Amino acid sequence: MVSERASGWDEEVDLLIFGAGAAGMTAALIAHHEGLKVLVCEKTEAVGGITSTSGGTTWVPGTQLSIDAGVPDSVDDARRFLQSVVGDRGGDEAREAFLQSGPLAIDELQRISDVRFVAAAAHPDYVTGPGAAFGGRALAPVPFDASVLGKDLARVRPPRKEFLGLGGMMVNRSDLNALLFPFASVGNFKRTVSVVGRYFLDRLRFPRGTQLVMGNALAARLFYSLRKRGVNVRFEAPLIELVRENGRVTGAVVGSKNGASTRIGARLGVVLATGGVTRHPALRKQLFPAGAEPLSLSPDTHTGDGVGSALKIDARLENGGDSPGLWMPCSIRRSRDGNDSVWPHIILDRAKPGLIAVNRRGERFVNESNSYHDFVMGMLRDAGNGTSVPAHLIVDAAFLRDYGLGLLMPGRSRARIAEFERSGYLVKGATLAELAKKLDVDATGLARTVDTYNRHAAVGKDPAFGRGSGPMSRFNGDPAQKPNPCVRPLGDGPYYAVTVWPADLACSAGLAGTANGEVLDAHGAVISGLFACGNDLASIFRGTYPGPGTTLGPAIVFGWRIAKFVAGKDIGNPVAEPARQHAWVHDTP
Ligand SMILES: Cc1cc2nc3c(=O)[nH]c(=O)nc-3n(C[C@H](O)[C@H](O)[C@H](O)COP(=O)(O)OP(=O)(O)OC[C@H]3O[C@@H](n4cnc5c(N)ncnc54)[C@H](O)[C@@H]3O)c2cc1C
Repeated sequence: MVSERASGWDEEVDLLIFGAGAAGMTAALIAHHEGLKVLVCEKTEAVGGITSTSGGTTWVPGTQLSIDAGVPDSVDDARRFLQSVVGDRGGDEAREAFLQSGPLAIDELQRISDVRFVAAAAHPDYVTGPGAAFGGRALAPVPFDASVLGKDLARVRPPRKEFLGLGGMMVNRSDLNALLFPFASVGNFKRTVSVVGRYFLDRLRFPRGTQLVMGNALAARLFYSLRKRGVNVRFEAPLIELVRENGRVTGAVVGSKNGASTRIGARLGVVLATGGVTRHPALRKQLFPAGAEPLSLSPDTHTGDGVGSALKIDARLENGGDSPGLWMPCSIRRSRDGNDSVWPHIILDRAKPGLIAVNRRGERFVNESNSYHDFVMGMLRDAGNGTSVPAHLIVDAAFLRDYGLGLLMPGRSRARIAEFERSGYLVKGATLAELAKKLDVDATGLARTVDTYNRHAAVGKDPAFGRGSGPMSRFNGDPAQKPNPCVRPLGDGPYYAVTVWPADLACSAGLAGTANGEVLDAHGAVISGLFACGNDLASIFRGTYPGPGTTLGPAIVFGWRIAKFVAGKDIGNPVAEPARQHAWVHDTP
């Protein structure tokens, strides 16, 4: 720890971190492990941010976990892969730093904390290319028994309500199948009894179930690890403004619940990890395409404070390369009380055989089994004509029964289907013409599209868009459907549709930074003492979406790199000297 120094601060620490998501909490854990005095200031009353509502999948190539899972991955393969996906869009040095540090960061995080991942043996990269992996790169947080948090469970932001069963129960992909079809097998029945039984027991003592999975498990594991170490996490303590003296960021003004503000000094640096610009009112308007502007999956409190405050001291914003946002197509079930449900169509329906997505012309416009990000990029590409935003996912009755659609889970009763129709979420047409009319879609175009699609689908082909041609689509398809797990013809009516809009799941645009997360100014020089990670830092993938965990991987790795760099550790930094040296200069009277 650096020695105390008299100043005008109300309080002084070594590293002052804003935002308790994956990025900020990782930086805090590692910095504390390195012996620094750390303070995490969180704007809301809970940790977790978008991280806690996410899938939690973390894309880090070449880890020991991939070897443990029997699918050894290599950084060299990942480098070739990223070269083919990201190409010459820039940021090579930071990407290289990510590749080299990734395995070390994951290894250390697991060693010094309660964070645990497991590499999925099968979870393919989202695009094909040299060096693409079928498994081993996507790390899933190990489920977490959050009863150990006691009353602090209330300090972990809950998942999206749409992802909770019985009002507070989390389930992962494997449990979901058992819960949807509890009587399909003895195994399913036993699993259902165990999951639901545990949940009801939990509810006797806790505000929600304590078996946390996915991003909620990751956020809770990070928080629990901080608590165990006694790292100070201050709630309802938003960043208000950065303090810069003689060109160096030396601290910040921090708000509080009662409206009073404090000046907190940061001897080694201030880290911005406030979750990005997705709800920054001006930047959202400025950066996001019109078709994607209205809907965001981030919490209302993500108003871009970190990036906004850095821009005030002349930091440079990068527009995110191919896309300022990273997207998911979402359907919305309106509710009379205004408590709408927004459903991101991530993996459950789009790649299944017998679904097509059409625009207002009744035409398909993209490979529906692409990743959620690439699906929306397809919507936005066409949005110049105002025709693919919104888009409609169209299926037949057999599809609805077998796979469900959006919020409507598979195998639901007629009464349940009718309820979704009445709410306006699900649109039904006895014929394609009737469906087209209800959706305000060109009926002739839709009839032609289904005719063409069905002709090829009968032999398992999709020459127009190549559904089922890549490993990722096939993985999310239905292996029972032969010869193509993503293609089967639409049968006779009735037909059903839900309407989808683009929503951001994260941003690619963010602060320009070095390979150590140091924020750059408008002239490309380092702003001494200021760091950014997570969505506050521009994405190293430049608006592309290479694989599952594209944002959490870099969030964790750059959180780790910042902490190491600030602590003066050699992390193979190709350019800059350790920040501690700057701090010593600053601290010397
Ligand atoms: C449904 C869904 C699924 C997703 N699944 C995945 C996935 O599986 N893998 C993946 O890589 N990505 C996924 N994402 C995206 C991913 O969740 C985010 O990109 C990632 O969690 C961002 O982490 P972060 O630490 O930058 O921000 P966050 O986790 O959002 O944390 C930021 C924190 O900063 C706080 N904050 C905001 N303003 C201030 C302020 N002024 N002062 C102090 N604190 C402040 C916030 O309250 C928040 O707690 C998903 C997103 C969604 C919506």
